This record gives sequence, structure tokens and C-alpha cells, in this order.
Amino acid sequence: MKNLQTDIVIVGGGIAGLWMLNTLTKQGYDVLLLEANALGGGQSTRSQGIIHGGIKYALNGVLSQASDAIKEMPARWKACLAGLGEVDLQGVTQLSDAHYLWSQRSLGSKITSFFAKKAMSGRVDSVEKQDYPLLFQDKKFKGNLYRLNEVVLDIPSVIRKLSEQLTQRILQLDTRQCQWQKDDSGNIISLTASSQLTITAQRFIFAAGEGNAAILDALAIDSPQMQVRPLHMVMATHRTNLPIYAHCIGTSSKPLVTLTHHINNDGSFTWYYGGDIAESGLEYTSEQQIARAQELTAQILPWVTLKDVHWQTLRINRAEPKQSALSRPDAAFLASDHNYFIAWPTKLALAPDLSDKVIQALHDQKIVAKYTLSAQQLENLSSAKVASTAWQPQ
Ligand code: FAD
Repeated sequence: MKNLQTDIVIVGGGIAGLWMLNTLTKQGYDVLLLEANALGGGQSTRSQGIIHGGIKYALNGVLSQASDAIKEMPARWKACLAGLGEVDLQGVTQLSDAHYLWSQRSLGSKITSFFAKKAMSGRVDSVEKQDYPLLFQDKKFKGNLYRLNEVVLDIPSVIRKLSEQLTQRILQLDTRQCQWQKDDSGNIISLTASSQLTITAQRFIFAAGEGNAAILDALAIDSPQMQVRPLHMVMATHRTNLPIYAHCIGTSSKPLVTLTHHINNDGSFTWYYGGDIAESGLEYTSEQQIARAQELTAQILPWVTLKDVHWQTLRINRAEPKQSALSRPDAAFLASDHNYFIAWPTKLALAPDLSDKVIQALHDQKIVAKYTLSAQQLENLSSAKVASTAWQPQ
């Protein structure tokens, strides 16, 4: 029987857990991360990789709380990409240095004047025709185009980078197969996997995305509760290297579609369709959803022809703290009780915000580093691999 005593156990190896593994280790804590399957294999590598600054949420013409909480994130991530931030993301693949907003026709004066406001300066730029991305340089494109200063990243490379320095600290362990032990006051004492491994910690952080629900259940924790907001995404894998990173806006404040372009190992590319088409596509079969995406593409990008397209769809849930009326939470979420935390970043881009909240809570609770697991103690424990994307041809 191996007994590992550590300062902090993080359950879940998506963006939230891995970001915290790095920042808490940097703070001097001894940290272990437990991942049930592949790192990033939940929502993180299925995301579109846009490091949002919140402009998308401000489309209805009002800067909401959501855009306030998220607006610092692009600069935080950019510092990390340059090796100057709280985690080192040097060498991560940047798919695009900006994200665009486009409309099929000229935008209404309300939105146009909103973008011209001072609040948007440095976050949104109007783009001269000669500087349009290649795809929008076609004469048939008659709408407006704005550039949002939000990078788009290849998320498997982010996950790889965040895990590679700390592989010994990442154990492949599904807590659903383990026994939790709690004391009478409700504190978690330990986690036991089979008869060979017991882990104790000063604090446990549940950052398992959708998996948090089963953990809360197993530990009989009834608050906070989780909500899922399902999506039916579309993937078009093809041989046309025509990058697109853009929200197409129609008449409502929600983008009709958010399109991102991903590069596969076999030289093919995938256009990944999110936004309203994915949110409104739940009741459709995969074939019907593909037909909707084809129709929408012909309508909004009539000059584009993709070669050798292979269409697929992906049903996936966004997991978040429960809100009234399934609305979107506004910021990263952290709840603290006894000696554990329950966390959902609610957006990949908000992982730094979530990590700030955890560090603050640990300091408030006066948790100081106490343990140091040796390399020898961590030997012969299986570690988790990085997930590939949902569209990567096998
Ligand atoms: P996850 O990435 O889901 O990771 C949770 C991990 O916990 C998984 O690896 C899972 O295997 C593990 N796990 C679960 N249960 C257990 C257990 N019992 N024991 C051990 N491990 C366990 N956000 C953006 O900012 N920009 C975007 O462009 C964007 N696009 C998105 C597109 C889609 C289709 C979706 C679904 C989401 C998107 N998001 C985006 C949101 C973003 O992806 C999520 O908010 C974020 O990835 C959640 O990260 P996480 O680490 O909390 O969860």
C-alpha cells in the first residue's frame, strides 16, 4: 500500500486542472492531479480554442458583466504565450492572432456605433479591405468585417505544454473507481484506489468538468449543483487551406455560427461549426444537422467551395454551475466548503481567472505548503496522455 501525502489534489485534467497544477506548483505547493482518461479529453480539446475577451457577449450593445470579467483574459494568455506570464505557453501553436466578426450585409447603426465607442478601443478594430483575411477578399463579400484582438490556439498543444513539465504529478486515476473517506465534520480525509494507493491532502479541488456531478454525488455534496448546456457541433474535414476564425452575425445578438479552422496531422483541415447552429441543433439527427450546416455555408459564404469534404457532427455538453433558466454563467466559478473546492472555469479563456480565485482562497484559508513527495514515491504510477481532437483522422 502506497500512502501519498500532498498539499493539494486536483481532480480533472482539462484546462482548469492543468492551469492550476502549474500555478499552484509555482506557489510552492506540492500538488497531484488525477485524470480519469486522456488530458483535455472532456470539453477542452473539443473547444474552438478562442481566447475570448467577451466582445461576442457585448453584441447586444451593452457591456455586460460577462465581458467585464473576461476582458483581461486575452492579455493574460498573450503574456503566457510570450513566456512572460503565470504559466509558460511558449511553443504552443497559435492558429490565428485574431478572431473576426462578420456580417453578410452592412451592420445596423446601433452595432456600428457600439464598436466605434471608446470602451472597445484596443479590443475591436475595423479592417481595411486590403487587410481582410484571404477568405473575405472575394468581390462577392459585401458585409462588414471587424477584427477582435483575441487569439485562437491549438488546444491539444496547450494541454501538452501545461502537462509536459509535470508528468510525474499527473496520475491516471478515475475517482469513480475509488473510495472517499470523510470525517464526521464533513472534511475529506483520503481517497483510496484499489488496495494499493491512498492519497491524503490538505485541500481537494474538483475541476472535472461534467464529471464534477458524479463526484459531488459520491461525496453527498448537494451544493453547488451543475448544469449542462448541450451543443451539436459540425465538423467539415477537407483539403482546402482556407483559414477562417470568425463569428457570423445576423440580426440577433448571438452569432449565427462561429467558425474555426484546424490543421490535422494528415495534411487535411477541419472547419468546426459552433454558435447558434450548434445550440439550436439539438433536436436534429446528425444528417439533418449536416444539411443545416451545408445550407448555412452556401448562404453566408456563397463564393467558397471546399474540396473532398467529409462531414461529421459531435454532441457535447458545456458543464457549468447551475444558473436560473439555463443562462450562461458570467465568470469562472469557485465554491469552497470544508477542505474542498468545486470549480468550473465556464470558458477555457477564464482558466487564469479560476486559478486566481483558488490561490486567493488558499491564502485566505492560510494553507501553507507542508509536504514534498519525492520522485521515488511517484515512481510506477500510471500517467495520463494528451487527448487528440474529435476531428483528427485516425
Ligand atoms: P474539461 O475540459 O471537461 O476537463 C475535465 C476533465 O476531468 C476531463 O479530462 C475528464 O476526463 C476528467 N474527469 C472527469 N471525471 C473525472 C473523475 N471522476 N476522476 C478523474 N478525472 C475526471 N471556451 C472558450 O473560452 N473558448 C472557446 O472557443 C470555447 N469553445 C467551446 C466549444 C465547445 C464545443 C465546448 C463544449 C466548449 C467550449 N468552450 C470554449 C468552453 C470550454 O471548453 C470549457 O469551459 C473548458 O474547456 C472546461 O474545462 P475544464 O477543465 O473545466 O473541463
